[in-house]
Amino acid sequence: MNFIEEIIEKDLANGKNGSKVHTRFPPEPNGYLHIGHAKSICLNFGLAKKYNGLCNLRFDDTNPVKEDVEYVDSIKEDIQWLGFQWAEEHYASDYFDQLYLWAEQMIQEGLAYVDDQTQEEISAGRGVPTKPGVESPYRNRTPEENLDLFRRMKAGEFPDGSRVLRAKIGMSSPNMHMRDPIMYRILHTDHHRTGNKWCIYPMYDYAHGQSDSIEGITHSICTLEFEIHRPLYDWFCEALKIHHPQQIEFARLNLNYTIMSKRKLMKLVQEKHVMGWDDPRMPTICGLRRRGYTPQSVRNFAETVGIAKRDNIIDVSLLEFCAREDLNKVATRTMAVLDPVKLIIDNYPDNQEEMLTAINNPENPEAGTRNVPFSKELWIERADFREVADKKFYRLTVGGEVRLKYAYIIKCTHVDKDADGNIVAIHATYDPETRSGLAASNRKVKATIHWLSTAHAKKAEVRLFERLFNVPDPDDCEEGQTFLDHLNPHSLTIQDGWIEESLTLENAEKHYQFERIGYFCIDRDSTPNKLVFNKTVGLKQ
Ligand code: ATP
Ligand code: MG
Repeated sequence: MNFIEEIIEKDLANGKNGSKVHTRFPPEPNGYLHIGHAKSICLNFGLAKKYNGLCNLRFDDTNPVKEDVEYVDSIKEDIQWLGFQWAEEHYASDYFDQLYLWAEQMIQEGLAYVDDQTQEEISAGRGVPTKPGVESPYRNRTPEENLDLFRRMKAGEFPDGSRVLRAKIGMSSPNMHMRDPIMYRILHTDHHRTGNKWCIYPMYDYAHGQSDSIEGITHSICTLEFEIHRPLYDWFCEALKIHHPQQIEFARLNLNYTIMSKRKLMKLVQEKHVMGWDDPRMPTICGLRRRGYTPQSVRNFAETVGIAKRDNIIDVSLLEFCAREDLNKVATRTMAVLDPVKLIIDNYPDNQEEMLTAINNPENPEAGTRNVPFSKELWIERADFREVADKKFYRLTVGGEVRLKYAYIIKCTHVDKDADGNIVAIHATYDPETRSGLAASNRKVKATIHWLSTAHAKKAEVRLFERLFNVPDPDDCEEGQTFLDHLNPHSLTIQDGWIEESLTLENAEKHYQFERIGYFCIDRDSTPNKLVFNKTVGLKQ
């Protein structure tokens, strides 16, 4: 049980909130969700599920400048893909009227005032944590004057930045967020939902807790950087005498070799360092999806990482491990040869071909079998052959034997080379008695390799990925550098490979294991004539 569950179970035992659990996931629709958000989604929706409660989706759309419907749609798609369904869908902007009325109420009670100082003057007045700040010269306006000015702010009489509404708390708290924080600013900007209705917009701190309160949220879970905002969250709820959810902070997910700020991810997209938000190298949820991650593997990852109270950095290989573990269970096996060299079986009859039985998924008998054509000329991986090999190399060598998976044991006799000494074909003989499934097939050889019949294989494009950044912490920069200087120039390799002919777009499965190579999925750039595969992750670390 993690510390948040401990808090919740105590609350349930004490009958707090009518013994109900209601959480929310509150993204700002200013970008696509990333693996860090996935963690927060799994946590919030997971707690609701565990305690028979509800979890809302609330778009925290209080900043009209950066927000867009494109992001709203993508966020919903990503949450559902992860396997979660929200109880209610809300927008902080739906609460603008209520928030405004509460602001008037606070003005009337002497708890808020209109400040005409510039942003710079306000910052300067706040001072430093170790010394009290100075009060604004406008701090002691009467409620009537404040109300009049605030209404005129709302009516659009004043330009951007000319006035703000501030909470009247005090100027001496060591917590700078408590020194008369700004509640509203003037922004003559259309909002993606409220259009031009408003030209004043609430600040995050004034909107968030109240939105939670309106929705009857019981446990408002957020990341550690909001810990210092909690006194203000509490202050607004107390000042307004409204339902008071409990804010609980946990450590955000940090992954090495990755960046997770939406602003920086946006830069990668806008400057075309990647193919888009869903580039398979991106840590976005849509990127992971396109890469071939399963929702289960992402949920398992979130679960494995756990909930911490202190910031830490998770190794990206844990994410890869979780992908492998789940894909092993669900991926359909197929044979593919990515770096081909020809293998000719000299004693196999010309023009003969036979269908051999291959197993679709040894982890799942229900997945059944399929037929794979075998013939005299095959593709095998160049790396599975060595002309001269040391003792540790168990695969094919001149004079040595291997089993061709689902087929026969073969023995290499010699190789053909071109004028430059490159191997153009490997020659072998096969033993008909050793066909998989026959009585004599038990003869043991040290290695089994995969293959494809050259006459039957078809070409596909294969995209191989490495880490997008070549250092563990891309944000750790020397002077004059940015995270972009740590981009790995070799993060994408595009090549052609051979795949089984029976694999088509119409009968495509979601996930494949190219036997002995790794996990792959079909990319959306595929056409019926040419499939495109993304490598999700290799078989081993
Ligand atoms: P970014 O810094 O990438 O822009 P954000 O925190 O501004 O992210 P929001 O849309 O405000 O993004 O986040 C929605 C929710 O997801 C918040 O509750 C936030 O705390 C949580 N969240 C964001 N990043 C992470 C992370 N790396 N790990 C865990 N939770 C996160
Ligand atoms: Mg945020």
